Amino acid sequence: MDSLPDLTAYDAVLFDLDGVLTPTAEAHMHAWETMFTELFATWEITPPYTERDYFDHLDGKKRYDGVAALLRSRDVEVPWGDPSDPVTADTVCGIGNRKNVVFERVLRAEGIAPYPGSLALLDALAAAGTTVAVVSSSKNAEEVLKAAGIRDRFAVVMDGVIAERDHLASKPAPDVFVEAARMLNVDPARSAAVEDALSGVASAASGGFALVVGVDRGAGEEDLRHAGAHVVVRDLAEFVAATPSDPAEEHTA
Ligand SMILES: [Mg+2]
Repeated sequence: MDSLPDLTAYDAVLFDLDGVLTPTAEAHMHAWETMFTELFATWEITPPYTERDYFDHLDGKKRYDGVAALLRSRDVEVPWGDPSDPVTADTVCGIGNRKNVVFERVLRAEGIAPYPGSLALLDALAAAGTTVAVVSSSKNAEEVLKAAGIRDRFAVVMDGVIAERDHLASKPAPDVFVEAARMLNVDPARSAAVEDALSGVASAASGGFALVVGVDRGAGEEDLRHAGAHVVVRDLAEFVAATPSDPAEEHTA
């Protein structure tokens, strides 16, 4: 087995959220299902929504494009509307905005469990006193972190809300990772970044991070390395074995 670098040796470790710390995709799938099941019942649209619809029409698409595609599959057409539409509007944008409200409801009702291996790594970094931050494109990052019960662990959460406010270019541009390092007052050249998406790996790599870790949740090791990952793991627990245990930890209550 390749020996992995010791992440506690870095000044800070910056984590992507969705797919790295939390399996957020499942909560999004559930939110789509809940929203469209309600909508189809109210509008008497048949056939009813199934999981297949997620993969055929929603997965990987921008939110509004997905809504339009799914409605089209049922021969339903509504006006496009505007992103500022209220959730009560029967427009593509209004329905898309409804999904976001349902997503927040799903998070509150069911919570979201962090990947156990990611939690183990966060524990090891906390025990070693290593600074950690989140760098996510999501506008729901704060809600997801709170639902996962790990918000308090991070000194800085760079998310889609801050990026939009500060006009930061999204991944794969390096801006969000570099700005998060600046907020932490650490040098990217002495810090590590952890990502599961090719665009995220490319972002951290071009930001000059000393170590870019790719977490392979399906993107593929070769593609993650090609995008700029120095090491690729399938689960962050692999780093915990590589982290020397702190003797003081044994005496901590
Ligand atoms: Mg991700």
